[in-house]
Amino acid sequence: MKKHNFNAGPSILPQEVTERAAQAVLDFNGSGLSLLSISHRTKDFDKILADADALFRELLHIPDNYRIFYVGGGASTLFYEVAANFLGKKAGYVNTGVWSKKAIKEAQRYGEVQILASSEDKNFTYIPKGFSIPADLDYLHITSNNTIYGTEYHEDLVSPVPLIADMSSNILSREIDVTKYAMIYGGAQKNLAPAGVSFVIIREDLLDRQVRDLPTMVNFRTHVEKNSMFNTPPVFPIYVLGETLKWLKSIGGVSEIERRNKEKAELLYAEIDRNTLFRGTVEKEDRSLMNICFVMADGYEELAPEFLQFATDHGMVGIKGHRLVGGFRASCYNALPKESVEALVACMQEFEKLHTK
Ligand SMILES: *Cc1c(COP(=O)(O)O)cnc(C)c1O
Repeated sequence: MKKHNFNAGPSILPQEVTERAAQAVLDFNGSGLSLLSISHRTKDFDKILADADALFRELLHIPDNYRIFYVGGGASTLFYEVAANFLGKKAGYVNTGVWSKKAIKEAQRYGEVQILASSEDKNFTYIPKGFSIPADLDYLHITSNNTIYGTEYHEDLVSPVPLIADMSSNILSREIDVTKYAMIYGGAQKNLAPAGVSFVIIREDLLDRQVRDLPTMVNFRTHVEKNSMFNTPPVFPIYVLGETLKWLKSIGGVSEIERRNKEKAELLYAEIDRNTLFRGTVEKEDRSLMNICFVMADGYEELAPEFLQFATDHGMVGIKGHRLVGGFRASCYNALPKESVEALVACMQEFEKLHTK
């Protein structure tokens, strides 16, 4: 049976990228060597990095005064590294869920953290808006898409202080104005690559604001100056990331993927709103295009395990909601085909017929 991969992360990658990666593992570029066994200090790997850099810039319209680098350790490592590099006195954070909280906790080791806004009062079901941003902050940190709760900023925030965004789960899913951000970072395992690499896009002048002496690997300058090659970078995930960027360009770039993502999300949210057995969990205007959360409607709660089984039997993978939210979460990342969303919608409709008169 065909599987529909709604995993939250690591998650679906384009089929042709997976195939190319499989081939490269066996024989990289006709070299007779596996991609898993080549040195990063080779022309071949230089080209992988250079191509990825050029494509990232082209796809996201990243200006020349920004640098891109890759590191291991996941977004979770970057939570403390951001603060270690830039939090001298006081930074502002917006608390929109689990990942924001983790970033806040790490930042508190390095200085004062001012929570400028939080949606915790309503179990993170909305994106706080209209809060004021003091001009004396070292930076402002946001989580642009809340993978667990299914909320997302649909507009780029305007900030008088350097804006730093964790975009782990919606990077390259929609057009953004990179110039609104001083730094964009995230784990690549949601929209770009298998687990093992994080991306950082940083405005050069932010590097001049470093506030303390740092271990070499924690210092962002190291990775900028050595072009992600101070130590051995995660060769395989970076290769796949590059192939995913090529795929994105080949289908028409970010504007096209944004169109597709909106189409998929509208399809599923429309069914959630229509179907008597289900309801959405977050404010409509803040609904994520990437992570679509829903629960059984009032009075039908006890059907949740049965629906999960029903959906699993129909090929749906990874739709069980995070334990903090319950219910269901369909992650509809860039590479998820519309057919998978249609299959899930059909499944919900069939289930409704079985349980309503
Ligand atoms: C998945 C995720 C993370 C954690 O990433 P790791 O690479 O596992 O550390 C952080 N932030 C957001 C928004 C995520 O979705």
